[in-house]
Amino acid sequence: NIRKTAIIGLGLIGGSIAKTIKRKHPEITVVACNRSEKALKSALSEGAADIVTRSVDENFSDCDLIFLCAPVETNLSFLPALKPYLKESTVLTDAGSVKGIIHSGVSAALPGAHFIGGHPMAGSEKSGYENSTDRLFENAYYLLTPGENVSDEETESLKQFIASLDAIPLVLSPAEHDHVTAAVSHVPHLAAYALVKLIADSDSPEEYMKRIAAGGFRDITRIASSDPTMWEQISLENRERISALLKTYINSLSGILELVERGDGEKLHKLFSDAKDYRDSMTLTSPGRGQRIFDFFCDIVDETGAINNVTAILFENCISIKNLSIVHNRSFEKGVLHIECYDEPGRDRAIEVLKLHSYKVYIFDK
Ligand code: NAD
Repeated sequence: NIRKTAIIGLGLIGGSIAKTIKRKHPEITVVACNRSEKALKSALSEGAADIVTRSVDENFSDCDLIFLCAPVETNLSFLPALKPYLKESTVLTDAGSVKGIIHSGVSAALPGAHFIGGHPMAGSEKSGYENSTDRLFENAYYLLTPGENVSDEETESLKQFIASLDAIPLVLSPAEHDHVTAAVSHVPHLAAYALVKLIADSDSPEEYMKRIAAGGFRDITRIASSDPTMWEQISLENRERISALLKTYINSLSGILELVERGDGEKLHKLFSDAKDYRDSMTLTSPGRGQRIFDFFCDIVDETGAINNVTAILFENCISIKNLSIVHNRSFEKGVLHIECYDEPGRDRAIEVLKLHSYKVYIFDK
């Protein structure tokens, strides 16, 4: 039963954890510790934290659960300071993207501590408390890696707490975690950086590539806008597993290069069709995608007031929009307005009323 929790590092992830805890469990006392004053002030005034501090101090005593949500290296540096404040029943967890290094760090600095690694598979390329939300973890996997001193009951109880924040807990060993995330997150980030570099290095002085890169290129390189410091750290912290999988990926690219050079259409087709089948089996709405997105596309004509007409119809029908964007290139999406609603009924209703007004609406369900 959690009555008091502390969060070190009130950025995107720490801030979102604080806000979600306060939305779902307002009775829990939240202590927030951050380097900058600004996030602490905002958290206090928004009710995301009850007590704020710039350092680990007596406010940390009596905590049932402590979250380390600063960059991994910083989390490691906080461990010695926490020692006097950990009671026998305190569970320590973190939010770092790599697990092996924090498990070894805790074993060395806090032997006997009840540490369960944590990694919310949600986030964004934006960082900082100002981008945190109380819905970041909704339907997102939240990986848990129990350490050596942790009982099954403690793991079960953290699993239940994470589920109560609307995330989907999944227990892995630290090694499994680092292997799996190297494949689904770390290597793809490096591939995205390399693709952006390809355009940057190959473009003409007129920058035609940069100008017309749209749809597909933007989709697969969105993550290249992530925080460079965080990715520098992740690349070094999970170095061995990343190198192994990066080599496999490079071999696969070399194989593709060979097929292209040889002009082997049949083998290329087989490769594309196998990849398409596998990719199509990952649906947008499966929990594996992270968060559920309730979006659709709507065709509008390019004239003054066109967007206003759509939003007015939604407003008149009391339908809230979470996000609205303009698709600049129609080669990948049908429809030029991309509209995201908060939930499925909201999206279905939006589609219904727009169709009644003769708009062409599309759902992209893969
Ligand atoms: P962030 O930059 O938004 O937040 C980090 C916070 O830590 C900031 O508020 C910063 O002020 C604070 N901080 C840094 N040094 C500090 C110090 N010495 N003392 C006190 N506070 C300090 O970063 P984030 O995206 O929230 O990432 C935090 C952790 O979560 C990282 O370990 C990252 O690997 C992990 N993570 C990030 C994502 C993501 O998509 N951003 C997803 C999952 C996990």
